[in-house]
Amino acid sequence: MSSWIESGRKHVWHPFTQMKTAPEPLPVVSGKDELLVLADGRQVIDAVSSWWVTLHGHANPVIAEAIARQAATLEQVIFAGFIHEPAAVLSERLSGHWGGHLTRSFFSDDGSTAVEVAIKLSVQYRQNTGEPHRTQVIALDHAYHGDTLGAMSVGERSAFTAPFQKLMFDVIRMPSPVAASGPTTAEHRQIAMETLVSYLEYHHNEVTALIVEPLVHGASGMLMWAPGALREIRDVTARYGIHLIADEIMTGFYRTGELFACRHEQVMPDITCLSKGLTGGFLPLSVTMCTEEIYEAFLSDDRMKTFFHGHSYTANPIACAAALASLDLLETEETRRKVKGIEEVHRSFLPAYQAQPGVADVRVTGTIFAVEFAEATPGYFSGLGPKLYQFYLSEGVLLRPLGNVVYILPPYCISRENLEKVHRLILKSLEWVREGNAR
Ligand code: PMP
Repeated sequence: MSSWIESGRKHVWHPFTQMKTAPEPLPVVSGKDELLVLADGRQVIDAVSSWWVTLHGHANPVIAEAIARQAATLEQVIFAGFIHEPAAVLSERLSGHWGGHLTRSFFSDDGSTAVEVAIKLSVQYRQNTGEPHRTQVIALDHAYHGDTLGAMSVGERSAFTAPFQKLMFDVIRMPSPVAASGPTTAEHRQIAMETLVSYLEYHHNEVTALIVEPLVHGASGMLMWAPGALREIRDVTARYGIHLIADEIMTGFYRTGELFACRHEQVMPDITCLSKGLTGGFLPLSVTMCTEEIYEAFLSDDRMKTFFHGHSYTANPIACAAALASLDLLETEETRRKVKGIEEVHRSFLPAYQAQPGVADVRVTGTIFAVEFAEATPGYFSGLGPKLYQFYLSEGVLLRPLGNVVYILPPYCISRENLEKVHRLILKSLEWVREGNAR
């Protein structure tokens, strides 16, 4: 037993983990493309991009070199009163990818802090522009936006947030255009829109922002939206001057087949949050982007209108350099081809899933595939998830079911052979469950 494994056992506290009952964590020594290499030499296919961050594969040499170069040049500098090339160029390139509409980038550290910034920007915008009564934030059922207090407040209340109930602020909760279980239909869109439109008719003057995970609710089970709903939400929020915050933390950077999920429905949000894939999955970094109009509301001789927010590592140069290298890779024809190829493989397997008993729903958006196992008690705490997780690992594949939903969200470099292998394993697991092995 390596001594560091013993050190970890004694001193580390893992995320989202019941340390009393969880199996031993797997010691990883290296990664290459879609593979993780364990201390005992075993290889595991990372079919979930290590919590949805890894875009071009583990230890991608282009990004690794960019990081090394930047680290040897300028590793960090205070970002109040200073600017550096990687942050300046990254902001400009990101703005270009939003058609020049989102002009300003505010940097922070991870998805949760990007969401905090988005909420605070919208709320302070109203103070600065003389509408301080507009403080309500609308959030959707099934939403997940992170684990800090503000991000939890706009997320769906669950067992995860229950201990903090009294510390979270109230939001206006609206139905989402998805089915909680089984196939989503046009009816889900209709219910969501009717509820939103009738609420806004009387209350728009109290609302500052509406936050969404565009097209796909990630953490609540890769629930995929009814088409057209995002467009309609944009139209109605624009009518009332309500900020649309698009949390593209999971969906950004081609996850849904387009560079950003909003593009599927030609939607331009007022604010967007990007993280996870921003650095290709190498370093923590996030950005909250907004329109020039929002930015200008903070320009004043009155210092009270300043956005007083920042983090020690805001716009860390090494992380920005990784993000630039990742963008270089994303902007190639080869990446688009790989993204398309992944979606094609997912779709080619749909009939095989549909032919199986025990499938409540199966769905694809871009590189994201999800299959819902029919269960009497669906949801995150379905006992099926942990058993399937172990079953997949024993076959050399990292898949981390969300309760009774098994999803694939692979690095774009995954070989066709390995992706097909993952699908065949999930199909096999349906049979394994039917045979009563997961009881
Ligand atoms: N928003 C969305 C849509 C997410 O999927 C996540 C992370 N799963 C977050 C926010 C929070 O990001 P982080 O874990 O980096 O704080």
